Amino acid sequence: MDQYCILGRIGEGAHGIVFKAKHVETGEIVALKKVALRRLEDGIPNQALREIKALQEIEDNQHVVQLKAVFPHGAGFVLAFEFMLSDLAEVVRHAQRPLVQAQVKSYLQMLLKGVAFCHANNIVHRDLKPANLLISASGQLKIADFGLARVFSPDGSRLYTHQVATRWYRAPELLYGARQYDQGVDLWAVGCILGELLNGSPLFPGENDIEQLCCVLRILGTPSPQVWPEITELPDYNKISFKEQAPVPLEEVLPDASPQALDLLGQFLLYPPRQRISASQVWNEVSMTKELWRRARLEPHDAASAPRTVKCWKPLPMKHP
Ligand code: ADP
Ligand code: MG
Repeated sequence: MDQYCILGRIGEGAHGIVFKAKHVETGEIVALKKVALRRLEDGIPNQALREIKALQEIEDNQHVVQLKAVFPHGAGFVLAFEFMLSDLAEVVRHAQRPLVQAQVKSYLQMLLKGVAFCHANNIVHRDLKPANLLISASGQLKIADFGLARVFSPDGSRLYTHQVATRWYRAPELLYGARQYDQGVDLWAVGCILGELLNGSPLFPGENDIEQLCCVLRILGTPSPQVWPEITELPDYNKISFKEQAPVPLEEVLPDASPQALDLLGQFLLYPPRQRISASQVWNEVSMTKELWRRARLEPHDAASAPRTVKCWKPLPMKHP
């Protein structure tokens, strides 16, 4: 820690305080994240550290924030990351109006590239949201905060906690208490982030866990076993019942978004996790053609989830949970 000179406090999240600092010898500016030891007892960071290290060693990815060093400090430890100027939450907050299509597309491409890389390495981030997507001085988006990330066993036999992901970005299977889940939870979050970029405010701003499901249902309709057969096996399926609601067409929810962007959004925001389009699938399409919004229709939609009635929906600006 002596090799750094602290320049100021940048942020404080659920897992630590972040400082801007300068390396005394090299002059390099970094972000230092201090993680308290008591958090280690929760069992998250220890695991996460190994995984982040693995992630950094496998390949230096352009769209994953670079971890430069890890060292013990006091009763905890410190992670030194490359310094990033801002984050996507701040970009959205300071935008005068919803971002233009070209900006949305550019951020989405970078996000997808980072997510595809993580998923290819069996790493599920589990807390994707605008505040965890950092933006460099040159406008590069990089995924940060792997405090909840896990390496997933491909056989899917292990059980995991459903208490992950910030509520507004939490996939429906987690809201129904799923203990077995996969990359799908990140793909749902990508859909929420895309929706937020198109909308200028969060798509599903639930104030508590039940209301979170209500927000999702209000737009996507009540999930039925016909559309999502596995729902009946989820721990909380029988504990919560909602009245039948039909889905609202996404063009009603986001009237200013292009049909192509909405089509892609619809492929992330699907109830059955396995039906969500994968990051690499979209990314491959994007890299083959520069015209993402023209080539977004990759697979036909499930006819069962087609909208039945049209309702007006207006997002409510609410405080972040
Ligand atoms: P937490 O798990 O506590 O949410 P994060 O890693 O998300 O921790 O860091 C909290 C905040 O600190 C971020 O939202 C961001 O504003 C800031 N931050 C984190 N890493 C960096 C970085 N590499 N460069 C600049 N700011 C950062
Ligand atoms: Mg964070």
